[in-house]
Amino acid sequence: MDDIARTLMSLQDLDQVLARQKHQYISISKELDLQGGISIMKEKVEKARLMELESKVEIAKIESEVSSLESKSSELEEKLYSGIITNIRELTAIETEYARVKQSLEELKKKIDSARSKIDEISNRYETMNQNLVQKKDAWEKVKGNLVQEKSVLGKKYNKRLKERNVFAESIPEDFMRDYIRLFRSNRGVAIVRVTKGICQGCLVKLPIGDLEKMKFADSPVLCNSGRHFLTE
Ligand SMILES: [Zn+2]
Repeated sequence: MDDIARTLMSLQDLDQVLARQKHQYISISKELDLQGGISIMKEKVEKARLMELESKVEIAKIESEVSSLESKSSELEEKLYSGIITNIRELTAIETEYARVKQSLEELKKKIDSARSKIDEISNRYETMNQNLVQKKDAWEKVKGNLVQEKSVLGKKYNKRLKERNVFAESIPEDFMRDYIRLFRSNRGVAIVRVTKGICQGCLVKLPIGDLEKMKFADSPVLCNSGRHFLTE
């Protein structure tokens, strides 16, 4: 293996570690942003609270309709049974209205029953969600502390290693470095591979004799036919 290949191999090892650390750092940051799912949970709890409130308002509205219809109903009853109305047409009109009021009252009572059973369900759900949130917050506080610590350690390690890597990379000729960076990025962290028994370990394909010869006599890494990586013994 020539010097450039050896250096590129070491650089690749370093860069793969750096890429893993970066990935880890980003996923910790994301987890911290999401607060372990607490912000989403908070939104849901708030939604449930608003639903409960709306249902309460709805019930209060129906209750007030019921009470005004009830007073209307007793007013009509009084008229009907007081015996003061002798006019048949007026009596019929009052009876019709009374029947209508009674029917509306029946309907409203059904509506209120269903709204009440619904609000019980909503209130229970809200309460359960709220309890879960409180528990989750406690658990999260502990996890969060560890994550913040881990993130900071990881960040420091990453920066230190990156500095070392950059110093190391300076020893590689510029044109090789340019190709290396391009290949590393486009081939998921693999820019240089070994050739074992004439087989490219990147492509897992047997290389033509010509390519093997070229490799043998070159004093720096050559590109694989696939164009995806440098080759080295
Ligand atoms: Zn190949």
